Amino acid sequence: MKICIAGAGLAGSLLYYFLKNFGFNVDVYDPGIIRGCRSLNFVFQNKEERSLFKKVCKYLNVDINDYIVKEADLIINDKKVNKCYIINKTKFVENVLPRTLIIHREYKPMSSVMRAKVDGLGNLIKEYSSEDHGKDYKLIVDASGVSKVMQEKKFNDDIKTCQFIIRSFKKIDDYIIENISLAKGKPLLQYFWITPMVEDGTYHIGCSSYNMSYIEMKSKVLEYIKEVFGSGYDIVCNCNNVINGSLMRESRLGGIYKGRAIASIGEAGGLISLLGFGNVYAFISPFLLAKCINKYGIEDGIIRYKNLVSKTFSYLDERKIALKRCNILKVPKILKESLSISMSDCLELMMKSYLY
Ligand SMILES: Cc1cc2nc3c(=O)[nH]c(=O)nc-3n(C[C@H](O)[C@H](O)[C@H](O)COP(=O)(O)OP(=O)(O)OC[C@H]3O[C@@H](n4cnc5c(N)ncnc54)[C@H](O)[C@@H]3O)c2cc1C
Repeated sequence: MKICIAGAGLAGSLLYYFLKNFGFNVDVYDPGIIRGCRSLNFVFQNKEERSLFKKVCKYLNVDINDYIVKEADLIINDKKVNKCYIINKTKFVENVLPRTLIIHREYKPMSSVMRAKVDGLGNLIKEYSSEDHGKDYKLIVDASGVSKVMQEKKFNDDIKTCQFIIRSFKKIDDYIIENISLAKGKPLLQYFWITPMVEDGTYHIGCSSYNMSYIEMKSKVLEYIKEVFGSGYDIVCNCNNVINGSLMRESRLGGIYKGRAIASIGEAGGLISLLGFGNVYAFISPFLLAKCINKYGIEDGIIRYKNLVSKTFSYLDERKIALKRCNILKVPKILKESLSISMSDCLELMMKSYLY
């Protein structure tokens, strides 16, 4: 009985590790030269996330301190709001799943055909349907992150990002997020970030938005880089991307469709926070899936996994729904919960926003 994992980023690599340890026969596909996203930060938004993370580390028998390159402060509008850990993700992923074990081929086991239905609460639920050519696998796991192996359609709530890696002599040690803008009536969320990278003097700078074009975003990021670094910097590389801001939804997390088991982990399962922090979930979700499958078998395990993940991380969906509906009363609460800033600071942040 074989299992297929499509994607060898953080989530796919960890799942491979756990399943192999449990004695499963696993194939991993990844066409990428650089595996996974180069984002490096772990930001924990509550105690439960922290304790689950520790549990996974214990199980892996790794000391995460071996991979932490820096501790940085998450700063919003000049205020420290959370701690974040910059880790050497490439080293970590490579240790968990060496690239020589990956089949370098893009795996698209699912067609873009989806069934959509509306549930009792008025939510649109999309379900996968399978194609024949993945039939050798008893279970197919979508760990493809932002690129959505199984869902090739565009979603209205996709978040576009434009990112640069630059090199500069100007030293910045903090992780910065700026210009959070929320607008009533429209699903809007825009921010910039600067992350010091592993190599000193190198920074990851990006901008995310629901509604700006890539050209607008690029010129805004360049303006921002100039503001922070002056003209003393070199651009190492630049790319545009789409983060799937969709909700988790049970049908995305897993199910049995036409006799085949399907599950999603990490970002492919919608496990991403409103500020794009997905590394923590890409770390935890494969652990939960592997444990459920090992204990209950594939079919029951998937049902248990999706219930467990939906329950454990339900706050992610609640936040996304509140943002989408722009329930202005809920937004300060969300910011407070996810970033640990006081209610009055949240309100101030909202008032300052040029879009509100
Ligand atoms: C610009 C940016 C900045 C971010 N910043 C942060 C941050 O600061 N902190 C944080 O916690 N999170 C951040 N995130 C989110 C975080 O990177 C993701 O949530 C996390 O990497 C998700 O891990 P994953 O393993 O699910 O997917 P990924 O890391 O995206 O890995 C997916 C893998 O699947 C492969 N793949 C794609 N298509 C196929 C296919 N058809 N077949 C086979 N393989 C395929 C890809 O090559 C890739 O290696 C950021 C994301 C972006 C885009």
